Amino acid sequence: MPEKILVVEDELSLQETLAYNLKKEGYDVETVGDGHSALEAARKGKPDLIVLDIMLPEMDGFEVARILRKETSTAILMLTARDDEIDRVVGLEVGADDYLTKPFSMRELIARVKAQLRRARYIREEAGMASVSLPAHEKLTFGNLVIDLTRREVTLNAEPVQLKPKEYELLLFLAEHHRQMLSRGFILERVWGWDFIGDSRTVDVHVRWLRQKIETSPGEPKRIVTVRGGGYRFEG
Ligand code: CA
Repeated sequence: MPEKILVVEDELSLQETLAYNLKKEGYDVETVGDGHSALEAARKGKPDLIVLDIMLPEMDGFEVARILRKETSTAILMLTARDDEIDRVVGLEVGADDYLTKPFSMRELIARVKAQLRRARYIREEAGMASVSLPAHEKLTFGNLVIDLTRREVTLNAEPVQLKPKEYELLLFLAEHHRQMLSRGFILERVWGWDFIGDSRTVDVHVRWLRQKIETSPGEPKRIVTVRGGGYRFEG
């Protein structure tokens, strides 16, 4: 059974483009253009993922997410109109799982959608609610660096890289947000969790360890770059 995605976007040309590209990836896609219809469609259709625009007529995406979060744990990927920290923070507070800033490429959208659906499958499997397994050898490739999601293995020049579990999770998180600036706080919250007792230096330490394992010259990183005053960005 294909996974179901509900697309909530009032701008018709974007709604159609999103639906077209997601269908092409084999997903079962439903589209709506306002908040009330989104609630109705989510309740009836029980999608695996909701792509939710913030700017919607009548009821905005924040409100939709806030209401849905009380009813379901379906993954929510928010679309924000600008690179606005407030939107991002509010989006995560009301329960969105990830966000994407407009304009974005369809390739980027598909990568995020896959990441969210993958996470949802892991959660379901851990909870023992389903026995859905990953397609054979789903991989993320960045030049000579390959992350095998099925085996949870990383190779560099076809040689296995020994990573601790948290190093792997951090690398995967960075890779899933390819070329996006990620603050230390955001990384900490998503890789270590809300209830983690520690500080953002934890992120720096793990980044340093990862760099020693995947960078050609760890002192001059090309893959995981530091963004001044911000955090990190994975360049691939
Ligand atoms: Ca809109």
